[in-house]
Amino acid sequence: MLGAPLAYAACVNRVIHIHTEAPPKPPEGQPCNGCGVCCLAEPCPVGVLVSRRWKGACKVLVWSDAAKRYHCGLMGEAMASAGKVPLWRRLWQRWVRRMISAGSGCDASIEVPPQP
Ligand code: SF4
Ligand code: SF4
Repeated sequence: MLGAPLAYAACVNRVIHIHTEAPPKPPEGQPCNGCGVCCLAEPCPVGVLVSRRWKGACKVLVWSDAAKRYHCGLMGEAMASAGKVPLWRRLWQRWVRRMISAGSGCDASIEVPPQP
């Protein structure tokens, strides 16, 4: 939920708003933990399309109170369709996973300073 962010991180001359319960960003190359830093800083290529912006938080980034982490809204929508999944939806899921490099670890080189 981007509406209630209460921690801040300096980000290449910018401040991004991060949920206070978000996990700390792991080092680049480590498994993604849903800290949200990358998507809050700027949208990925597919995020640019759905957010219609180049900078700032991606509009489809979603905070999960249950999981205490961020999720890509596109993946959440895709994963919600468990069971019998139409072909077009499977292809969409596959495309989204590829476009956002899901499962390939943290690829964000952004450094987040320690929070007070
Ligand atoms: S890719 Fe890295 S910065 Fe982005 S949400 Fe995952 S862990 Fe956080
Ligand atoms: S991974 Fe999802 S939430 Fe993150 S920037 Fe890309 S489209 Fe947006």
